[in-house]
Amino acid sequence: NSDAPNGTHPVPSPEDLKLLELSQKYTAEAIKRLRPDGLDQFVPLKKAESERFRALAEDPWVDHAALNAKESPVAEGTTYKFLILGAGYGGLLYAVRLIEAGLVTGPNDLRFVDAAGGFGGTWWWNRYPGLHCDVESYTYMPLLEETGYVPTHKYASGTELREHADRIATQWNLHDKALFRADVKAVRWDDESQLWKVEVTEGRGPSAPSRELKLQAQYVLLASGVLTNPQVPKIPGLDSFSGPIFHTARWDYTITGGTPEDPTLTGLEGKRVGIIGTGATAIQVVPKLAKYAKELYVFQRTPSAVSWRGQRPTDPVEWKTKIAYKKGWQRERCLNYDSYLTDAAEEGQKNLVADGWTEMPAYSGVLGSPRYPIVEPTPEKIAEHVGRLYKLDMARSERVRARTEEIVKDPETANKLKAWYPCWCKRPTFSDEYLQSFNQPNVHLVDTDGKGVDAANQSGLAVAGKEYPLDILILSTGYVTPAIGGGSPAARTGIEVYGRGGRSLDDKWRNHGAATLHGICTSGFPNLFFMPLSQSGQSANNVLTLEVGTEHTVHFLAQAEARAGPGAIVEVTSPAEEAWSFEIAKQAAWHATVVGCTPGYISNEGEFLREQQQQVQDPAAQFKKARQGNWTRGIASFMKVLQEYRDEGSLQGVEVTARA
Ligand code: FAD
Ligand code: NDP
Repeated sequence: NSDAPNGTHPVPSPEDLKLLELSQKYTAEAIKRLRPDGLDQFVPLKKAESERFRALAEDPWVDHAALNAKESPVAEGTTYKFLILGAGYGGLLYAVRLIEAGLVTGPNDLRFVDAAGGFGGTWWWNRYPGLHCDVESYTYMPLLEETGYVPTHKYASGTELREHADRIATQWNLHDKALFRADVKAVRWDDESQLWKVEVTEGRGPSAPSRELKLQAQYVLLASGVLTNPQVPKIPGLDSFSGPIFHTARWDYTITGGTPEDPTLTGLEGKRVGIIGTGATAIQVVPKLAKYAKELYVFQRTPSAVSWRGQRPTDPVEWKTKIAYKKGWQRERCLNYDSYLTDAAEEGQKNLVADGWTEMPAYSGVLGSPRYPIVEPTPEKIAEHVGRLYKLDMARSERVRARTEEIVKDPETANKLKAWYPCWCKRPTFSDEYLQSFNQPNVHLVDTDGKGVDAANQSGLAVAGKEYPLDILILSTGYVTPAIGGGSPAARTGIEVYGRGGRSLDDKWRNHGAATLHGICTSGFPNLFFMPLSQSGQSANNVLTLEVGTEHTVHFLAQAEARAGPGAIVEVTSPAEEAWSFEIAKQAAWHATVVGCTPGYISNEGEFLREQQQQVQDPAAQFKKARQGNWTRGIASFMKVLQEYRDEGSLQGVEVTARA
């Protein structure tokens, strides 16, 4: 308080006192959840010791008979021009933009490889009841202008989102250009042939042996996602549970009854069902389970912040006259939406999306904002920055907690369902059904006070010395964090990537730290591009990030071909990636907002807080982490930087040569 007269202490305002109390509560709640085992508390299903858990990672949706009946779309040793690893929205966007740029002409110019049995990525694997996109479908669903598709609802269902992936594949003739059921193990740059060698295991179902394949590619495009590897907590005794168990990312309708399109879960009738986890997935699933289970036990470690949803069907008149009413509407809508989340909305601007997301300028705590200068890395400036964002978040977070009290009738349950962290620490959630479920007599919140489930046995789960007998157990326990391996684009999908001289991409990240130009390519790994995560601008709408990454990559490729012909080799130089990494590291103090966050995949299970508590000081390691940060002026500003780079036209910092 600068109004304090000389010689007196400033008098904190009631708001300041409230903020102080709140931040102390947030810190205490976060520290309570810190675990010494950090990321090690989980194991990816695929790598679980128990055969039973490994089997849970398999694709429940694939039609092996149909795929085996078709001739394989790839032959051993074939050389492709573009090999796209991943056939979700990201992979599809790469393909569409490459085709539009005229870079795909021959029959072997383009192939997808994906472990799934079809297109869709996230929307292939996830088919749990209640699944919808959490970002408005008019902004989230890619290529709406090009396909002319009108989403049925403001938030499209999982089925609709998957069907849209198929629609894109149909419109751009991609159905025969994908090798599905195929795990990519490794990609290696071969200096002699100047091609990527790609090692793939193609599954053929339980009745046929799998096929090991070696393919070659001029360009490898990694579109293998961020949340693709379901994980299970290492709860002692979990494997001994005698009832059915499955992960939400591989929903088992043979147990629950119903289908993704008709979640009439009659298999749960008369059953005691347990669900571990209360993240964004559980928020959508719980109301559906609550409808059918005899008793539903929701095992909570950290509550989600649950705000209002406002789902509604698309009004065809509004669609034509106010939404899809001009060319370029979708990008404009995405940026309008983003301006609210980066605290950049102009006075009097029309809020086109106008949903719960757009009430969160404090989400700039993770996305950045163009309104503020780079945060100087001094204790005072960092404290000022974090304090400002806590303040910006406070009213909205209080409203979300008040909403919980208004909806949940039992005050004790309501109290346990309140989230005590700022909006950027966990994916914010939106539901007009989740909190209401806890008013049903068959729904029981088992709050573990931040500790998690203690143990499991043949008949159920145990928390704080109390046993909960169950018939069915559902794991809603999330995914391996995309920040694994320092955010290496290889580590997050388990693909080993070896560049020039056999150098491993994971080693480069581990030893040197993130190093890219604009988040999409790295030196020593020619003709390899990946979807931006570290060192780029991010949006809460993941598809906008994928589009931005795709546009930029295709620009590089088109320019390279224009200069060196179809055999071009394009590679960022080391000085250029260092300059960009330094630019990112300079902005890293912004991310101090995450230090106090409750553990979760966004905070690498509380890694920074643990280091702060243990007073770890390692400047070299800190600089590596700083390089792993993002562009902190928001995605619109990042897009401007990329546009200026493209307009300048010389592909600064990138070497283009013709293949020998
Ligand atoms: P994905 O859709 O994950 O596709 C990647 C593909 O790569 C997968 O099919 C996978 O099988 C394949 N793959 C990975 N590794 C390998 C390998 N080694 N070998 C072979 N294939 C491999 N974001 C939002 O913005 N809004 C939302 O509403 C939203 N909802 C989500 C809901 C859920 C349940 C989850 C898990 C995520 C959600 N996300 C959401 C994030 C979502 O992942 C992205 O929005 C988007 O779908 C990612 O597309 P992608 O193509 O990059 O990756
Ligand atoms: P999350 O990682 O968000 O949630 C996992 C849950 O499991 C957390 O509540 C976690 O608690 C809990 N958990 C983990 N271990 C234990 C344990 N030992 N005992 C008790 N609880 C435990 O995964 P989700 O699948 O929910 O979501 C992942 C991401 O996918 C989201 O953040 C979002 O980005 C995206 N998504 C989007 C959706 C959409 O609306 N379209 C829907 C679903 C997902 P704790 O928080 O304490 O770690």
